[in-house]
Amino acid sequence: MSINRRRFIQRSACISAAGAFLGSSGSFSSSSVIGRTTAWQESSPNSRNDKRPFFIATWPFGKLSCEAAVKVALESGSMLDAIEQGIWVTESDVKNASVGIGGIPNAAGQVELDACIMSGPDHNAGSVAAIQDILHPISVARLVMEKTPHVMLVGGGAKQFALQHGLESTPLLTDNQKARWEKWKQDQESKRQDESQSNKSPKIDQDNHDTIAMLGLDSKGDLFGGCSTSGWGYKIPGRVGDSPIIGSGLYVDNSVGAAGATGLGENVMRHCGSFLVVEMMRNGASPTEACERAVNRIAELDPKNLNNLDINFIALNKNGQYGAAGTSRGFRYAIADREGSEVLDAKALSEKSIGPEGGNRK
Ligand code: ASP
Repeated sequence: MSINRRRFIQRSACISAAGAFLGSSGSFSSSSVIGRTTAWQESSPNSRNDKRPFFIATWPFGKLSCEAAVKVALESGSMLDAIEQGIWVTESDVKNASVGIGGIPNAAGQVELDACIMSGPDHNAGSVAAIQDILHPISVARLVMEKTPHVMLVGGGAKQFALQHGLESTPLLTDNQKARWEKWKQDQESKRQDESQSNKSPKIDQDNHDTIAMLGLDSKGDLFGGCSTSGWGYKIPGRVGDSPIIGSGLYVDNSVGAAGATGLGENVMRHCGSFLVVEMMRNGASPTEACERAVNRIAELDPKNLNNLDINFIALNKNGQYGAAGTSRGFRYAIADREGSEVLDAKALSEKSIGPEGGNRK
């Protein structure tokens, strides 16, 4: 069977599995969700040891991905399949305007996607950036990791590589996003006319972005991670954010822990954000403390103050402790294991609120 066909069948099975989670009354249905806490919480060490595989992902939309990942890990025994196919669920959601199909395009009206994947046991990684017309950039990142001596492919080369490996070219710009982009272009044009009279350059909208970063831990204590996004809405064509950069949007160190990021990539990648979180855990911090210390360290160093950084981290250590923290109120994350799934509030380090998830902040 060709890779394309095999992957299509796997993807369909995975997506229908996610649908089943939503519709059934089994242990993974949304009605059986353990319950959303109203405040951030620190997980206890080994608290979910016997319930692994365990997955954690950014944003409430990551819950279906985590649930699918648990199912795939249990069925296939492969944590990399679980990360990849779990992320497929969010990449396939046309209503999510910040990941995969339906993502907000760049300033030229093209959907450009970034993704990466990491495998803890062999410290291997693969990544793609600014790739167009490929439904599952996470799969291309995995192919880069497994089939090439490289770590990262970008743009046209990444697309060509994906096609050569049997993935199909798929239009990713939905009618809805096309209409929004046309309106955005018109607004930019009128602003430009106003600004040219006042001599100021038009401001780029920084609010339309989000990412799925997912981390997983198996019963052997091995760690894995993946990340996928359409990035900053209406970005300059060719712009690459933190998400596909190993150590910025994602980092896995199998001896310590793993971390992933969401937020304004430019503020994460100037500080190697996820690597920093893992190093904080190496120095003894719990996952929540590690995320908090990393955000504070960045805020100390960065000329932008905490309120303007818009960065959020999730973290998972080798013992199964997990946590999250971000610059603003409103960042939430999802967890799932073989007993169920849950959406939790991250620790907020300022009083500022972020708006709705999924690239719909405005
Ligand atoms: N970090 C992503 C980027 O800058 C977007 C996000 O996670 O909000 O591309």
